Amino acid sequence: MPSLLLLNIGTLVLAETHPCSFAAGKEMCHLPAVQNAYLLVENGRFSAFGPMEECPERADETIDAGGGFVFPSWCDSHTHIVFAASREQEFVGRIRGLSYEEIAQQGGGILNSARRLRETPEDELLESALGRIREIQLLGTGAVEVKSGYGLTVESELKMLRVIRRLKEKTAMPVKATFLGAHALPPEYRENRGGYIRLIIEEMLPQIADEGLADYIDAFCEKGFFTVAETEQLMEAGARYGLKAKVHVNQFNSLGAIPACVQKGALSVDHLEVVSDEDIQSLIGSNTMPTLLPSAPFFLNDPYQPARRLIDAGLPVALATDYNPGSTPSGKMQFVISLACIKCGMLPEEAIWAATLNGARAMELEQDYGSIAVGKVANFFITPPLPSIAYLPYAFGSDLVERAFLKGKMVMDKRING
Ligand SMILES: [Zn+2]
Repeated sequence: MPSLLLLNIGTLVLAETHPCSFAAGKEMCHLPAVQNAYLLVENGRFSAFGPMEECPERADETIDAGGGFVFPSWCDSHTHIVFAASREQEFVGRIRGLSYEEIAQQGGGILNSARRLRETPEDELLESALGRIREIQLLGTGAVEVKSGYGLTVESELKMLRVIRRLKEKTAMPVKATFLGAHALPPEYRENRGGYIRLIIEEMLPQIADEGLADYIDAFCEKGFFTVAETEQLMEAGARYGLKAKVHVNQFNSLGAIPACVQKGALSVDHLEVVSDEDIQSLIGSNTMPTLLPSAPFFLNDPYQPARRLIDAGLPVALATDYNPGSTPSGKMQFVISLACIKCGMLPEEAIWAATLNGARAMELEQDYGSIAVGKVANFFITPPLPSIAYLPYAFGSDLVERAFLKGKMVMDKRING
């Protein structure tokens, strides 16, 4: 594979000489960067970077960044991009005054998506999900996690996970698959909660493990969905098949799920709109990544995640989109970063760590993705010249990803594609 040399980079953002696994607390307000830099890519990986004065003489291909900034690609560690249909009618319902929970009670919400997904053939699901992968690629994303959870039957959950497996084969970015059978209780089990949990544990999980279809297990732990005890049961069952947990918790209520997830060694706890002091205490010193999804409360008009309290307690934080048809029909990480700054009180530097390396950590990809370090996979994007790093979250309506690269190959050039 030919070498690629980028010249005249205004700022090379998150360029790590001594790569760390994640950034936490006070570390997050400092972003390592090189001004007026070069970047060399060989065999699809970063092989050198530094100030322009030290730039190597030649490479097979040279790109003049013209003062534009280079960022490592976003690592979006929480999405639901396999789905059959959009749900803008519920969006209109909410404008008219219905709550998310009321919509769910009327057969909308996740169960609406489940109904549509069951009817949709696998190939059709793959086509639409691939379209969303291409979309996020253009928005600067270079690693993604995708969940099942709109199937809610053995057959349809397997169908979703097979679609995710085919996505992995068809894109240059790494894709992690999470089994979310416990996303909502299907109507046929309304009077038989235990029966559905048994279906997940005794029928879905063994087949999923058998086909190697999932990397992680998830549950929607929330009032009206799954209890803490059920979530613990599911995490234990997942662990028997080697699946770590990434769990939807504390979106509307703090039920004690965070300490339970930490105790079970969950890789991440995601949402966190509502967080108690005990929740924060339980996370300190753990390996569980608190993952915030601020475009969900943006779309639902809910309170935002208390990022400041988490970071001030010395914790790391990751940011992800939650791209899904119900509560967050957007895969735009740059907007998530803006919201994190504007609504959650994060500094631009903190938000950028959270959207890159800490997101990679929440998918166990931090060795190869999430920053610009020698040996890591060359997933990055170039912006136009910016006055400073803070301009990226500040200019929340501008699309600043101009050229995107995966494995050192350009996958998008907005200056040409328009
Ligand atoms: Zn979600």
